[in-house]
Amino acid sequence: MACLEPIHVIGGGLAGSEAAWQIAERGVPVVLHEMRPRRGTDAHKTDRLAELVCSNSFRSDDAEANAVGLLHQEMRSLGSLIMREGDTHQVPAGGALAVDRDGFSAAVTAALAAHPLIAMRREEVAGLPSAEWSSVIIATGPLTSPALADAVRGLTGERELAFFDAIAPIAYRETIDMDVAWFQSRYDKPGPGGTGADYINCPLTREQYDSFVDALLAGDTTSFKEWEASTPYFDGCLPIEVMAERGRETLRHGPMKPVGLTNPHRPDEKPYAVVQLRQDNALGTLFNMVGFQTKLKYAEQTRILRTIPGLEQAEFARLGGLHRNTYLNAPKLLDATLRLRAMPRLRFAGQITGCEGYVESAAVGLMAGRWAAAERLGQAIRHLPPTTALGALLNHITGGHIESIDEGPRSFQPMNVNFGLFPPLERTPKADDGKRLRGPAKGLARKKALTDRARADLAAWLGRSLPAAAE
Ligand SMILES: Cc1cc2nc3c(=O)[nH]c(=O)nc-3n(C[C@H](O)[C@H](O)[C@H](O)COP(=O)(O)OP(=O)(O)OC[C@H]3O[C@@H](n4cnc5c(N)ncnc54)[C@H](O)[C@@H]3O)c2cc1C
Repeated sequence: MACLEPIHVIGGGLAGSEAAWQIAERGVPVVLHEMRPRRGTDAHKTDRLAELVCSNSFRSDDAEANAVGLLHQEMRSLGSLIMREGDTHQVPAGGALAVDRDGFSAAVTAALAAHPLIAMRREEVAGLPSAEWSSVIIATGPLTSPALADAVRGLTGERELAFFDAIAPIAYRETIDMDVAWFQSRYDKPGPGGTGADYINCPLTREQYDSFVDALLAGDTTSFKEWEASTPYFDGCLPIEVMAERGRETLRHGPMKPVGLTNPHRPDEKPYAVVQLRQDNALGTLFNMVGFQTKLKYAEQTRILRTIPGLEQAEFARLGGLHRNTYLNAPKLLDATLRLRAMPRLRFAGQITGCEGYVESAAVGLMAGRWAAAERLGQAIRHLPPTTALGALLNHITGGHIESIDEGPRSFQPMNVNFGLFPPLERTPKADDGKRLRGPAKGLARKKALTDRARADLAAWLGRSLPAAAE
């Protein structure tokens, strides 16, 4: 083992950190190259590994009815460092798993630095990885440095595609008027580490909602550069002003939906819309505006957000912003184990492969790390069942997508894990009495059947049983 050649991991974000950990845990040496702090990105603020650049949420932790919750559970079963530290540093967030971002990334950095098989190099890989590196994982994320992106593009012959992620604003807790707003999680769901009253809710009447939508529609946004103008938005991350443009009620059915919430200040009045803020740090001093990504200019953001009841005096620790994404046309360029067809010593992981989100990026890092280690050890690569969340996500990246625009712009889009990526069930679930299920009960039974199947298939793959969803 001692004389094994190292695997080089480029990028110490969510994916690179997880990949490096998985490789080292299999007894293979790793050299982890991270360019920060010597060279920064537009979104990262620290020199820590696995920094969360925007929200502090790993999203739903419900492994029975939510695909990302199932992904959490599968990653825990496979010894994920990101999930271990996410669980350790969780903060209350209803049904979601949210983390104290500083504690989380400091712990990931410390774990990797302390591993005897991991050597850390704080340097940019500013071109094609050295020909002497026989196994490389490129996990440089949505903000891959231009020099490396150019080298990859030169190699693949594919034009990189860019679109915008818009960051949601973060407010200081003490500046929110709690005589108007109130603490409550939707449907009072406690979730992991929560109390059922974890979100701050700001209610709007119909008139207030209408004026807010009008203000968004009239708001001044950051202008696009010419080359950016034709890039599409990813639907899961639409800026609020773009949602408002799509229809006056769109926000009320999205981030401003009022369901599952009762205003204790006015229990008899049903709010027409509600803005939710979620705890952003362990101290509970910062709260982020859930789903409120925006590309409005800073002065406009402050002015318009202060028209929301409860936020009239709000001060913002961070306002929303615009960001570019870099990702490959993976279904065409990568093989089933994430290797670049044109140069198989290079593997890709994380958001650059076309997954979306912290957890998904780490999940792809986990798979890439295990496969690179197996290859180095001369072991056969064992593919995960496509019925698992990990397998379904991988299938989206390497094979599940069908190109829908002939000869035009490519249609492969980054995607969060979701039940739509899972193979359909062999049998439609029925009620206990054998009758057909309808409405929400039908949807819930389908999700449970999908997650039960995933758990059984992963257990068979692992050769051991897994904990039940609720554990
Ligand atoms: C502005 C913005 C907001 C986002 N908000 C969210 C959100 O709220 N929730 C969510 O789930 N996801 C969000 N995402 C997506 C998020 O980036 C990914 O989910 C996740 O961080 C990607 O993980 P990754 O490991 O692929 O990349 P990153 O975590 O970005 O890690 C890549 C690392 O590579 C390093 N690097 C880059 N180029 C080089 C080089 N040439 N040499 C050496 N090192 C290099 C970078 O410094 C960085 O540390 C957001 C993305 C952006 C850009």
